[in-house]
Amino acid sequence: MSGLVVIGASYAGVQAAISAREAGYAEPIRIVSDEDMLPYQRPPLSKAYLLDGVAEDKLIIRGDKYFADKKIDLVLGEKAIRIDRTGKRVELQNKPALAFDRLVIATGSRARQLPSAAGLQNIFYLRSLADALALKAQLSTAAELVVIGGGFIGLEVAASAAKLGKKVTVIESTRRLIERALSPVLSEFLRDIHKNHNVTIRFSETVTGMTQNGAKAEIHCANGDKLNADLVLVGIGGIPNAEMAADAGISVQNGIMVDAFGVSDHSEVLAAGDCTSHFNALVKRNIRLESVQHAQDQAKSAGSAIAGKQVVYDAIPRFWSDQYDAKLQMVGLSEGHDAHAIRGSIADNKFSVFLFRDGKLVAIDSVNRPGDQLIGRRLIAGGAMLSPAQASDDSFDLKGLAGTLAPE
Ligand SMILES: Cc1cc2nc3c(=O)[nH]c(=O)nc-3n(C[C@H](O)[C@H](O)[C@H](O)COP(=O)(O)OP(=O)(O)OC[C@H]3O[C@@H](n4cnc5c(N)ncnc54)[C@H](O)[C@@H]3O)c2cc1C
Repeated sequence: MSGLVVIGASYAGVQAAISAREAGYAEPIRIVSDEDMLPYQRPPLSKAYLLDGVAEDKLIIRGDKYFADKKIDLVLGEKAIRIDRTGKRVELQNKPALAFDRLVIATGSRARQLPSAAGLQNIFYLRSLADALALKAQLSTAAELVVIGGGFIGLEVAASAAKLGKKVTVIESTRRLIERALSPVLSEFLRDIHKNHNVTIRFSETVTGMTQNGAKAEIHCANGDKLNADLVLVGIGGIPNAEMAADAGISVQNGIMVDAFGVSDHSEVLAAGDCTSHFNALVKRNIRLESVQHAQDQAKSAGSAIAGKQVVYDAIPRFWSDQYDAKLQMVGLSEGHDAHAIRGSIADNKFSVFLFRDGKLVAIDSVNRPGDQLIGRRLIAGGAMLSPAQASDDSFDLKGLAGTLAPE
């Protein structure tokens, strides 16, 4: 048996398999996952799940029956250890190798490790449900939490812990939160809502070392300060799981390099999701994204390509985050923006920041204004002629402007 083999059973792997089937691919499909459970949602792990807002069984994306109906076989709890590209086989840790005609690599990304935390107790990273289970158990008895890294996952865990009444400190090495992905207005907004929930954020601070101090972890800061914590969450970014692809001779540069159809530099091997790098027309360079929307949209193109249907992946990047009562949504890429306009009211926690580069709308960061995101996608994709003055004028008809553009 050969057909399609997919490595990784999360958003990208599952979507690629489904899209291949839906586009008419009739050969066998097998998805290998090193996690011993049905595919599940990751975003709630740092949010509702830690607050008992969602039960484990509600995290499952698709049940057994769904896969059986689609004739997609899941090989769970089994790690792919080597891709034999010329022999067209994926070697597994414990089971016989799987032969393939086409391969999709959807291995995602893993948490970057902090070397000084190695071997200490009560240090947590958050990527999987197993990580979240362990973190949640420890959080129930911890009084003081230190989060290293003020990125999305770190801040979401900080917000959840603060809601649970924990004393929370965030250590961030730069001068503002999520500097690379967010506008300064949104960084400041986030700083303020965390401050209002008694979370201390130490900016421009680096961790130089860590030691065990009884049951606590002691964090040594570059300025000489020492912080003690019952629990440390390290959220310092992700690394693409792309080594196996590189070892198989597939081009990897900060992710498996794929074209607009998810195809690598070897036509029988495709890839999608967090583990890939692709050319993005908005910033005119290769980028690697970590978001559910990206994983699913790119996998739709990869799955369709396997069935011989060309679906270009050129979706405008989207991301969301929930912290306290703020629903953050971002569309576009704000990198290099040189002007901005605010629509709505920061004081009321309902606003959008429209970001422009060279007079062109390139991104919108919103807080509790989902409508702006929906319209914004069309405005960015369609290259709308919108000025900052119009964007900040709440009476200016954005929907009407979007209606004049070609559909996405
Ligand atoms: C706590 C948390 C909160 C998040 N919140 C948001 C959010 O609010 N909004 C948003 O858009 N995104 C969010 N994300 C990011 C989003 O979850 C990821 O971008 C998305 O899961 C990527 O999907 P993927 O399929 O590419 O990879 P992953 O979801 O990382 O899945 C890859 C899978 O492949 C498996 N695998 C890896 N190597 C092998 C191997 N050799 N053999 C077999 N299996 C293997 C992995 O174990 C994993 O199951 C969050 C992520 C986390 C961890």
